[in-house]
Amino acid sequence: MGYYPHPVEIEYKSDDDMLHMTFSDDHISPFPAKYLRGYCPCARCQGHSGGGPKWQEITHHRQIEVVDVQQVGNYAVTIIWADGHDTGIYSFKALREMCPCPECMPEGLPEEERVF
Ligand SMILES: [Zn+2]
Ligand SMILES: [Zn+2]
Repeated sequence: MGYYPHPVEIEYKSDDDMLHMTFSDDHISPFPAKYLRGYCPCARCQGHSGGGPKWQEITHHRQIEVVDVQQVGNYAVTIIWADGHDTGIYSFKALREMCPCPECMPEGLPEEERVF
């Protein structure tokens, strides 16, 4: 397994539902909680059909409210959401590939993937 920068600091701001992750290489990723939940990588959300990540429609604010973020082994974090969903394992690699900062994603996120 290759080396990937890992989050050293994770700060959730409930007023704008943003999860700011600072990585070990000083990169800061400003993740809208909705964006992370919408692309929840668990089998229940993504199914087994393969292809790219599938966007899940968000219908309740509780689905994008973060209760806790816990580290999984030394490769991932899991996010506990207010609606009880906690099966998504977000690897450090996947998180960095999803990073929506202007440097990683100059065109920005589509409107529907930002705030609720
Ligand atoms: Zn899920
Ligand atoms: Zn970035």
